[in-house]
Amino acid sequence: MSIAIHLADSDIVAPAEEGDLILDALLLAGVPMAYSCQQGNCGTCKCELVQGEVMDLDYSEYALTPEERARGLILACRTQAWGDVTVRRLDDEELVVHPERFMRCKVALLEDLTHDIKRVVLKIESGGPYSFTAGQYAKIEFLPLTTRDYSMANVPAAGADTDDAKRLEFHVRAVPGGAASQFVQGKLAVGQTVRVSGPYGASYLRESHQGAILAIAGGSGLAPIESILGRTLAAGNSNPVRLYFGVRALRDVYHEDLFKAWAAQYPNFRYTIVLSNEEAPGYAHGLVTEVVARELTGVIGMKAYLAGPPVMVEAATRLLGERGMAARDIHADAFYTEADRQGNTA
Ligand SMILES: Cc1cc2nc3c(=O)[nH]c(=O)nc-3n(C[C@H](O)[C@H](O)[C@H](O)COP(=O)(O)OP(=O)(O)OC[C@H]3O[C@@H](n4cnc5c(N)ncnc54)[C@H](O)[C@@H]3O)c2cc1C
Repeated sequence: MSIAIHLADSDIVAPAEEGDLILDALLLAGVPMAYSCQQGNCGTCKCELVQGEVMDLDYSEYALTPEERARGLILACRTQAWGDVTVRRLDDEELVVHPERFMRCKVALLEDLTHDIKRVVLKIESGGPYSFTAGQYAKIEFLPLTTRDYSMANVPAAGADTDDAKRLEFHVRAVPGGAASQFVQGKLAVGQTVRVSGPYGASYLRESHQGAILAIAGGSGLAPIESILGRTLAAGNSNPVRLYFGVRALRDVYHEDLFKAWAAQYPNFRYTIVLSNEEAPGYAHGLVTEVVARELTGVIGMKAYLAGPPVMVEAATRLLGERGMAARDIHADAFYTEADRQGNTA
């Protein structure tokens, strides 16, 4: 039977069938929902059930505690709707909705950022104009029938019809045994056509937030973080903007020149690069979350943006929660792979 999923405090209604997962129905209707693992493990899609009949599927109590469930919170990825339902996003203070585009793009530039991360610049050939908010991602088919998520690394352009608005930049790390990323690493060529759709994701810059920003990136997780920080700094945010960039070794570091330039231009910007597997002068040593835990003195008025490997994002989310940061102030994109989503991690 057909039912409706209402998003509280908005006129958004997603059509669904009885038994559909709330997250699936909202995403299909184009609602920008925060989500990652889609397995009830990460807690990213947590939202409030305002009313309606639902059934919970299995989930981890780390992602949603019994106390939270008793307060009416649910995981949208593990909750079936069995009648008309109303849910509220926890961070609905700034809902951005850009039109979803299906575009044909050409590879305009390929550059090695590190031994295993490629910078891929695409030029939109048809299907635009494309607008997005810093921190969002696109679905890209570098290989036919192999669609993967990649976060825009460039700052959104000011005007829709400018040359800048036709250019999209991504940082793609070659995952061992990975279909799409290995193709990008070894076979993708300038001039090749790729399909791109988007934008998606709710881990985007809250532009109205006037407080400090803490950004934690791991590896190619720097892509959305660069977009977020580039945008907030250029927009004149004069509050502390702090970046922690975690990688294994010196050969994994990239765009340090950019951080140096930002630090010279914006006195409120500071960065620390953390190496987990080697020590080097000028770089912190350890897990990026250990360094943040040592240096973080307070979280009041602060928002955090996290992106990169799921273990790092989960550890950082836990740490910030323990330090008192509210879930609505933590915006996280864990780079889950298709195998992770199927509970099939290699
Ligand atoms: C919101 C979001 C944003 C992202 N942004 C970025 C980004 O900006 N940059 C970036 O580099 N990545 C990003 N990712 C990750 C990206 O989407 C891909 O998951 C990543 O590039 C790997 O894709 P792949 O096709 O190369 O690997 P896949 O082919 O999906 O394989 C992934 C891993 O699973 C293993 N595997 C594959 N099939 C099986 C199987 N059947 N059983 C067991 N193991 C298997 C592979 O060996 C490999 O280790 C993002 C992910 C998300 C969710």
